[in-house]
Amino acid sequence: MPPGVAAAASVMQWTPAFQVPAASAASTLATPPNFPPGISLYQQAFKNWSGEIAVDAVWTCAPNAPADVVTLANWAHANGWRIRAKGYGHNWSPLVVPNGAAGSANVLLVDTTQHLTAVTVHSGSPASVTAQAGISMDALLATLEGAGYGMTACPAPGDLSLGGVLAIGGHGTAVPARGESLTAGHTFGSVTNLVQSLTAVVWDGGSGQYVLKTFSRSDPDIRAFLVHLGRAFITEATLRTGPNKRLRCQSSYTIQANDMFAPPASAGSNSFAKLVDGSGRVEAIWFPFTTVPWLKVWSVSPSKPWFSKQQDSPYPFTFADTVAQSTSDTLAQIFAGDPGLTPTLENGEMGIVGSGLIVTGTWDLWGWSKNTLHYVKPTTLKVTANGYVILTSRANIQRVVSEFYAYYTQALTAYQNRGQYPMNGPLEIRVTGLDNPADCGVPGAVSAELSPLKPRPDHPEWDVAVWLDILTVPGTPYSEQFYKETEAWVLGNYTGSYAALRAEWSKGWGYDGTTAWANPAVLGTVIPNSYRAGQAAGDTWDTAVATLNAYDPGHVFGNTFLDGLLV
Ligand SMILES: Cc1cc2nc3c(=O)[nH]c(=O)nc-3n(C[C@H](O)[C@H](O)[C@H](O)COP(=O)(O)OP(=O)(O)OC[C@H]3O[C@@H](n4cnc5c(N)ncnc54)[C@H](O)[C@@H]3O)c2cc1C
Repeated sequence: MPPGVAAAASVMQWTPAFQVPAASAASTLATPPNFPPGISLYQQAFKNWSGEIAVDAVWTCAPNAPADVVTLANWAHANGWRIRAKGYGHNWSPLVVPNGAAGSANVLLVDTTQHLTAVTVHSGSPASVTAQAGISMDALLATLEGAGYGMTACPAPGDLSLGGVLAIGGHGTAVPARGESLTAGHTFGSVTNLVQSLTAVVWDGGSGQYVLKTFSRSDPDIRAFLVHLGRAFITEATLRTGPNKRLRCQSSYTIQANDMFAPPASAGSNSFAKLVDGSGRVEAIWFPFTTVPWLKVWSVSPSKPWFSKQQDSPYPFTFADTVAQSTSDTLAQIFAGDPGLTPTLENGEMGIVGSGLIVTGTWDLWGWSKNTLHYVKPTTLKVTANGYVILTSRANIQRVVSEFYAYYTQALTAYQNRGQYPMNGPLEIRVTGLDNPADCGVPGAVSAELSPLKPRPDHPEWDVAVWLDILTVPGTPYSEQFYKETEAWVLGNYTGSYAALRAEWSKGWGYDGTTAWANPAVLGTVIPNSYRAGQAAGDTWDTAVATLNAYDPGHVFGNTFLDGLLV
């Protein structure tokens, strides 16, 4: 099999990594010294969802309770090890561990998903939910639904841990529709913005050991722990919640991309911004070299519209959650040396969406919120993605998307003219509000210092965030160069009084032309500055880093990548 085909095949299949218990003859790593008894310990390969981060063997354990995590932190500190909270391993960026063996020496992964999954709903008004960090978003939202509560927006997959989602400021797509006001208990910002309090494992200087500490949302120190990229260990959190809603989710593929992403001056009723105005909840997925995006529009609809199909469980779009034989065959040909088939692949992908919506009868759905807010399964095609968040004012949404579309189509054409096809997945566009701390309902609530949705006090008119991702199969020739050029373009374009850019923590950024998360100027200057600009002194990137360091001076909760980033 040519290497390209092997690469494509490996990204399309998921092989569970082999598990070897401690003290087994099959173990290839030296057993961690003095490991605390009573906590299950095993050697396992780590592979993130896209397969781009792989470590052949790393010690992993599954604590039974928050107290075990405290024990592990004290053990790690005493023995010169580091511990990494691990949820579902679905993050693209190297926040759990960097790629390869070097970054995993004396590193213990702590899998929260096996036992740290308790959840309690506190009904009433205001209502809240307390959940341990390893609970999946699937389980959390199902529990909330059972008690009559829900979220306005959340990440599209449900097999993400709450701890993983909070760590990066997980988001969905929602701003208020024109005339809509926020329902108490909800937010148009990140899931993290609902946090009322959280419990973390922190260093206690007085006793000289790690202990559990609960931070209220009004405690200035929580600002660093709300979104922390894995530089802390959260055992549980209490989130505000509000009444669940019935959502209608309508899919269509009738609006031309040129109309949806037209420049503001020529944008009509089918423009992206107009769609956002209509219902507030929109996602556009556009495959390069096709003419019409897959548009999803959610609207709040207390009763079932006559023509809608009732959806009583999540993941309605089954056709998008499997890799069709035709897709895998065409990808194999592309990777075998025929990149010119990329437009055929893209049109085939869009064809699958079109026919899939019809065959599965899912173009018009209605049901409890989670049943259409969760719509991505891990079995979908394994792609890599860059991710940027553009803060701007609502009046500028069309400008943001039209400028990106114009840049992107022109860049794709320039590459195509050279016979190069770096991008073979879709462009995805979503819009959210910002993290207004008051949404969590705690008097005196403070902002997450490292949330991509942290408002800019110097630009109170910036009230929305446009999330842009472009996707491709890992290893696609010229993709790294393309991502680097795209990053330079977005950084140069979304500036000044118009807009500002932040990285989407979970995805790709910091491209150096060879790989992501490696460009020294972006990592060392651009990203930190995006959390300094316009912020009050004592509430910036530097404050967050200092707070995280103060609560973990031994850097037990860190990895070699974070050591370089969070400085
Ligand atoms: C197909 C796909 C679609 C996605 N769609 C979305 C989307 O729509 N919106 C969105 O916002 N994101 C999305 N993501 C990204 C996802 O939300 C993040 O990558 C999230 O961090 C993954 O959760 P996890 O449980 O897999 O975390 P992991 O990948 O296991 O960990 C991610 C980070 O969180 C840290 N962490 C995990 N648990 C804890 C804890 N208890 N305490 C402290 N740190 C912890 C880890 O140390 C690591 O730094 C998507 C990812 C995939 C693969």
